[in-house]
Amino acid sequence: MKAEIIAVGTELLLGQIVNSNAQYLSEELASLGIDVYFQTVVGDNMSRLSQAIKGGAERADLLILTGGLGPTQDDLTKEAVAEVLGKSLHIDRMAMDNIDRFFQGRGTPMTENNRRQALSIDGGTPLPNATGLAVGNAIAENGKFYILLPGPPNEMKPMFEAEAKPWILQHVLTHETPLYSQMLKFAGIGESALETRLLDLIKDQADPTIAPYAKEGEVTIRISTKANTESEAMVKLDKLTEEIASRLSDHLYATGDIPIEKTIIDLMTEKGLTLSAAESCTGGLLMETLTTVPGSATVFLGGIVCYSNAMKEKLLNVPHDLLEGENAPGAVSAETAQVLAEQVRMIVDTDFGLAITGVAGPGYSERKPAGLVYIAISRRGGDTKVIELNLKGNRDTIRLRSTKTILYHLWKQIKDN
Ligand code: ATP
Repeated sequence: MKAEIIAVGTELLLGQIVNSNAQYLSEELASLGIDVYFQTVVGDNMSRLSQAIKGGAERADLLILTGGLGPTQDDLTKEAVAEVLGKSLHIDRMAMDNIDRFFQGRGTPMTENNRRQALSIDGGTPLPNATGLAVGNAIAENGKFYILLPGPPNEMKPMFEAEAKPWILQHVLTHETPLYSQMLKFAGIGESALETRLLDLIKDQADPTIAPYAKEGEVTIRISTKANTESEAMVKLDKLTEEIASRLSDHLYATGDIPIEKTIIDLMTEKGLTLSAAESCTGGLLMETLTTVPGSATVFLGGIVCYSNAMKEKLLNVPHDLLEGENAPGAVSAETAQVLAEQVRMIVDTDFGLAITGVAGPGYSERKPAGLVYIAISRRGGDTKVIELNLKGNRDTIRLRSTKTILYHLWKQIKDN
């Protein structure tokens, strides 16, 4: 089964917005076992859009179009698909009621062009829009399948999940053995090192298949198998997961698409442990990351962003002669990281205190290179662990990797005891 994604919108071609819809849909289709060989971007132009649809239908079985379902004259996707398929459009009653209710609720009159958002292709299935007004469409014609989704990601994703995916399973993948996948998430190891440790499994893979990829400071493996039932698939996936876990137990932190901060918050909640943080070069990124997890309040009690030396001294009691002076170790040092972690743990009164101090770059600070970062983890009644990192990348990457690395070391400390 081959699919092609056609993203419609002149602003995509002008580089004003990034085609994140294609990334999301490609990932979703891969998880359904559908191959995406082409992604197309086309502007709001009727003849080029028709050309893209015809070309896509020659190459693929399933076309997914996003964008161009809105009320304005340059929203042409439904018209273009209808024209290529030789179909007409009609107003879908439910979608029109939804639009009417929206304008009644707002107390403003509906302009006539909004009716366009309720248009549906004759013979197709209207896909309700739970978070917006433009109705989507799914239609099968001459052995090909067409799905039309809105452009805004906050409308497109819920529509794909709730409407398009079930339609694909019911109408497109009817004769295919279903594909089951499992995500394994790793931290503290790069993609190439991980691949090396699993090389024999990856080389010999037939069923289940193993696909590693790296994203935002974490490495993910997707293992997939085709099976007639979920339990049959799980037997195969669990066996492979066990084998991978036996080789990489110090890095495999989750089965499922879960970020490490969530694993940590869940684990610490379970163990009744608390956490605080002192951040210099990450400027609060670690605390921001931890607090994205719902329920983090019982674990993460608070922290301090101590960007300048004065704040390190004043708020976290770092001795002046540690920070400044001819032979002082400086703000970016193992000694300062240790004091920061211990002080924040004592001030906030938590089981763990984390600290990050380093050079995010570009260039040097205290004659130290960008990427030199010290992270420290202080534990109540235990030693403080300080680690020197020599990270590569730009400012954003160094800040992100510092954050993910300290989270990895924290996870390693708490998972075993
Ligand atoms: P609307 O009803 O808002 O007009 P639409 O279905 O007509 O929706 P477009 O007008 O093509 O969609 O795009 C609306 C907005 O959706 C764009 O300005 C952009 O912010 C976002 N968007 C569109 N296509 C994409 C895409 N491929 N990836 C990410 N965002 C997109």
